[in-house]
Amino acid sequence: MPARDNFHSLMRIGPVQIGTHRDRHGHTKHAAVCTNDHCGWSADYSSQTAAQLAARTHRCPAR
Ligand SMILES: [Zn+2]
Repeated sequence: MPARDNFHSLMRIGPVQIGTHRDRHGHTKHAAVCTNDHCGWSADYSSQTAAQLAARTHRCPAR
């Protein structure tokens, strides 16, 4: 799982936070991170639109 250093939250869709962070190469990545402790799902996307779509379609197993 990638490090979440410098994660900057921009919005929240259900239990999922959308935000940006820098990868180790200094590139901005768009991340979707489920805030439910019992889920732990997270993923990086190349665009905020993709991250939002993933957040909306995330089926949280802990819900
Ligand atoms: Zn979840």
